[in-house]
Amino acid sequence: MEKIDCAVIGAGVIGLAVARRLALSGREVIILEAENRFGSGISARNSEVLHAGIYYPQGSLKARLCVEGRDMLYRYCEERSIGHKRCGKLIVATSEDQRAALVEIAAHASANGVKEIRSLTRSEARVLEPELECDAALFSPATGIIDSHGLMNSLLGDAQAAGAVLALQSPVTGGEVTGEGIVLAVGGDEPMKLLAKSVFNCAGLGAQGFSRSLRGMPLETVPPLYYAKGNYYALSGRSPFSRLIYPVPQPGGLGVHLTLDLAGSARFGPDVEWIEEIDYGVDPRRAEGFYAEIRRYWPGLKNGALSPAYSGIRPKPHAPGETAADFLVDGKDRHGISGLVCLYGIESPGLTSSLALAEYALRQCK
Ligand SMILES: Cc1cc2nc3c(=O)[nH]c(=O)nc-3n(C[C@H](O)[C@H](O)[C@H](O)COP(=O)(O)OP(=O)(O)OC[C@H]3O[C@@H](n4cnc5c(N)ncnc54)[C@H](O)[C@@H]3O)c2cc1C
Repeated sequence: MEKIDCAVIGAGVIGLAVARRLALSGREVIILEAENRFGSGISARNSEVLHAGIYYPQGSLKARLCVEGRDMLYRYCEERSIGHKRCGKLIVATSEDQRAALVEIAAHASANGVKEIRSLTRSEARVLEPELECDAALFSPATGIIDSHGLMNSLLGDAQAAGAVLALQSPVTGGEVTGEGIVLAVGGDEPMKLLAKSVFNCAGLGAQGFSRSLRGMPLETVPPLYYAKGNYYALSGRSPFSRLIYPVPQPGGLGVHLTLDLAGSARFGPDVEWIEEIDYGVDPRRAEGFYAEIRRYWPGLKNGALSPAYSGIRPKPHAPGETAADFLVDGKDRHGISGLVCLYGIESPGLTSSLALAEYALRQCK
C-alpha cells in the first residue's frame, strides 16, 4: 500500500487552498479529484463575488473567515495578477419602510468588522448608478468580483511548485480508520489503497458521502445534506450598472440581485430552489418571477431581456426553513479521529473565505 503524509479529497477552491497551505508548510500532499479536471464542481458554478462580510451572524465562522479571507484574497490577487475588480456593491431600499432595514444592515456589518459601509441618499446613489430607482442605499466599496478559475489555477500552481501532486479521475470510494492512519480506497482506472496520516475532506457535494463511507467514522457526526440550487439568468445587451446591485434581503434569501462578471456582462440570481437530486438545468419559466422584483430597482428592464444562464448547487447541512448553518469544519474534537478534518456546508462565502478557511482547517488537524 502507498503511504502519504496528507491526502486532500476534492480539487475545488477549498481543496486547492488547503493543499497549497499544506505544501507550503513542507508537508507531502496528494490531491484526489474524482473528475477529469480540477475546479469543475461548486467552484465553477457561483457568482464569483468577493463578499465584504456584511450579513453573516456575528461571531460565526462565515463572518470571521469572510472578512479575513477577503483581505487575504485581494492581496493574493494583486500579488499574482489574478483577474479581480473592487467594483463595490449597492444594497437598495425601494420603499420608505425598508430604510430601517438598511440601518440594521449597516450596524450588523460594522459589528462584523466591515467598517467601510456608507449610507447614500436616493440622489447620491443615482449619481453612482443613473438607471437605479431607490429610496436610499448602502454602498459597500470592499465588495468585488474575481476570476475563480484564475484563482484556482494559481492555488494549484503554488501547491505543485511546493511538491503537491494532483491525481485526476481518482474518486475516493471509501476508507477505514486504522491505528497507522486513514486508509483511502481510490477508484478510477488504476484503483489503489493509500495510507494517509492526515486527510482533509474537501469534497463539496461529496463530503457527506465520503464521511459516511469511512469505516470508523461516528456517523452521528456527519450532518445531513440538502441541495439548494441557485439559478442564474443572463441579461442581454450591455449592463446598465457598473456595481453589484442587491435589494434589501427578504426572509430566506438575498432577493433577486444583479452581479457582474469581469467582462462586464450582467446576470441576475442566484435564486433558491430546493431539489432532491443534482440537476443543473435552468427552467426558463422561473425568470418570469424575476421581472417584477428587478423592476422595483431597475424600471428600465425590458420584457424578454433575461435568458437562462447556468446554475450552482449549495451543499446545505440544514433543511428548508431551518436556521442557516455555519461552515462546519470538523476535526478530532468533533469526531475523535486523529488527522481527519471534514468540511461540510461550504456554501457562500466559501470562495471569498477560501484562503482563511484553509488556515483554519489546518489548525483543526490534530
Ligand atoms: C449558487 C452559488 C453561488 C455562490 N456564490 C458565491 C460568491 O459569489 N462568493 C463566494 O465567496 N462564494 C460563493 N459561493 C460558494 C462557493 O462557490 C463555494 O463555497 C466553493 O466553491 C466551494 O468549494 P469546494 O472546494 O468546497 O467545492 P467544489 O468546488 O465542489 O469542490 C469539491 C470537489 O470534490 C470533488 N469530489 C467530490 N467527491 C469526491 C470523492 N469522493 N473523491 C474525490 N473527489 C471528490 C468534486 O468533483 C469537486 O471537484 C456560491 C455557491 C453557490 C452554489
